[in-house]
Amino acid sequence: MRTIAVIEHKRPGSGKVAADVKAKLAAAGFRVREDEVAGADLIVCIGGDGSFLHALNRYDFPEAPFVGINTGHLGFFQELDEADIDLFIEKYKAGDYQRQEYRTVEGTCEHAGGVLRVQGLNEIVVRGEGSRLCHLDIYIGDRFIENFSGDGIIVATPAGSTAYNYALGGGIVDPRIPLLQVTPIAPVNSAAYRSFTSSILLPPDLAVCVYPVSEGLTKAQAARQKTRIAVDGIESHLKGVTRIAIGLSEKTVTLLRFKDYYFWNTVKQKLL
Ligand code: NAP
Repeated sequence: MRTIAVIEHKRPGSGKVAADVKAKLAAAGFRVREDEVAGADLIVCIGGDGSFLHALNRYDFPEAPFVGINTGHLGFFQELDEADIDLFIEKYKAGDYQRQEYRTVEGTCEHAGGVLRVQGLNEIVVRGEGSRLCHLDIYIGDRFIENFSGDGIIVATPAGSTAYNYALGGGIVDPRIPLLQVTPIAPVNSAAYRSFTSSILLPPDLAVCVYPVSEGLTKAQAARQKTRIAVDGIESHLKGVTRIAIGLSEKTVTLLRFKDYYFWNTVKQKLL
């Protein structure tokens, strides 16, 4: 008997959908679990993209495939609406679906308190604390590229290319292309500073390394300077960051889609 975990974002509207889907899955002969993903053959996530991203983080990027039921959000990752539940159960039982694999992004942040390792599906954002101009020495692989000045940079996966990256003018990437996109946030171009203004696309085997620059600060001030790292919207505020290395991870996230799912249809419906 296959086990299906059902997880929901505790928001009005999701509870009724969760109760409905659990009852239907049990009636269809599946073992149903709530909020427990270990050993599950499938994870049903109820909510929007935000709920899905938070679930990945909370359950540490499980290997089991996900299917999402959208409850009134944008729902880029969420394949089903409430009305599709019966059809999905029928097709899941018959094996009549496709799997969509997404590569994730990983980062290692060395800071005064140790090393923080992070994993994201959409992106990793590096920016300064508060509203001060942020200066970052940027390396691609082991080559110095430039001293960036602006609000910060985001390093987006193809999955995340349609999220914050797109709002910043970055390109939309078909998830079948394994790459990372480095997009500047409010880059400064003046007589004082020169920063790249468009997205940089990197192949899967090249990492981007970022070294926060402590311009005009003493050593003690530099050790107290904070850098903000946001991974899929979840923020850490780190003191005395010396180096952040970000690369495409081998770890993938799998979504189940109906057979007729087509990425560019979703782009057209939800973004354009
Ligand atoms: P949020 O601020 O509540 O939602 C951000 C919006 O982005 C929601 O409408 C969400 O969809 C949508 N979204 C998330 N991932 C997406 C994707 N891969 N493609 C298209 N749209 C997507 O934050 P959240 O719900 O916790 O999500 C965190 C994400 O917000 C971050 O990963 C970042 O990409 C994005 N963000 C965007 C901006 C911006 O566009 N200026 C600024 C900060 C963060 P749902 O409505 O279905 O949840």
